[in-house]
Amino acid sequence: SSQSQTQISHLALDIGGSLIKLVYFCRYDDSCRDDGDELRSQNDSLCSKSDNNQPVLEGRLHFAKFETSKINDCLDFLRSMKLCLGGLFSTVKVISGSRYISSSFGLFTSSHDGTAPPSDKIFIKATGGGAYKFADLFKEKLGVSLDKEDEMECLVTGANFLLKAVHQEAFTYLDGQKEFVQIDPNDLYPYLLVNIGSGVSMIKVDGDGKFERVSGTSLGGGTFWGLGRLLTKCKNFDELLELSHQGNNRIVDMLVGDIYGGTDYAKIGLSSTTIASSFGKAISDSKELEDYQPEDVSRSLLRMISNNIGQISYLNALRFGLKRIFFAGFFIRGHAYTMDTISVAVNFWSKGEAKAMFLRHEGFLGALGAFMSYEK
Ligand code: ADP
Repeated sequence: SSQSQTQISHLALDIGGSLIKLVYFCRYDDSCRDDGDELRSQNDSLCSKSDNNQPVLEGRLHFAKFETSKINDCLDFLRSMKLCLGGLFSTVKVISGSRYISSSFGLFTSSHDGTAPPSDKIFIKATGGGAYKFADLFKEKLGVSLDKEDEMECLVTGANFLLKAVHQEAFTYLDGQKEFVQIDPNDLYPYLLVNIGSGVSMIKVDGDGKFERVSGTSLGGGTFWGLGRLLTKCKNFDELLELSHQGNNRIVDMLVGDIYGGTDYAKIGLSSTTIASSFGKAISDSKELEDYQPEDVSRSLLRMISNNIGQISYLNALRFGLKRIFFAGFFIRGHAYTMDTISVAVNFWSKGEAKAMFLRHEGFLGALGAFMSYEK
């Protein structure tokens, strides 16, 4: 029966407050590529090919996520995979497009005879708070131990890896235009990494393993989803995000023009459409609470959270003289309006000096960093 199962030879986890992220490696000759629709649609992948001299695995890095509250789905998923964690191969080299990624990864265990070790000897690299919280559950349900890696370190390792090695990873998003940015690996540092997960971390990155968490805010992705759920009764995150497409925040937000009777406050550079007070228009007596539409509330909320993060990010970039800000984390979801709002906020506050950039593998930095820590 195991013939038809996918063989995972390398796996790392990032168990966050909202989502569990998985990065795993499958060989080309495994059934990975023929997997069911769900797997395919959920996952993105990077390729791995052989290098001239070394025996390497050919295969693909896969990316998957589960809601942390549905951790049993994640455990079932892993159980359905054949965890083939023996020491059969020594190196995995990852290639993205035509670019060679010079990282090689060690294996889970030290067994070198090619047989899979007993599961109680298997360690899986894991990061995020859940690596602590759910360690016993993984032991009990899968018989594997979680080898804990520091969350910030993983985020930075993942970001550096993506920025240096992966083709078409970083991009800007302005006026509805996505533009890939060519990153010179020799001219990457310093930069500000803003990871927008449930909460937000702002990390000044100066090199490989050289970083400092300089700021953060608790008004993050969890706030958008949590408040949004309370206010709109949406059943899931994507529904809330979808709803925001159709909304108009000006019905809920108080604009400069609302205060100034439709004109700009030109003297201090505020146009009439600048938001003076997020949700400030919802105080109006002339409207019943039911008259506020969930799509307008959702849009205003998304704008408020994104704007705020953009502004705090800019202030921290200013504090340390950083010109480049990379935004990551699953809050973004490659969502146009979110990226646009963050870009505009950074552009507005920095008067065009600083640049907001986004990452294609936005939500997987921590998991990738954990994956790469096998190398150590
Ligand atoms: P964490 O590690 O804290 O879980 P993530 O980078 O995974 O952080 O981002 C979590 C955030 O992503 C949530 O707070 C929410 O804003 C957003 N999100 C995106 N997709 C989903 C989803 N399917 N379910 C819940 N939250 C989601």
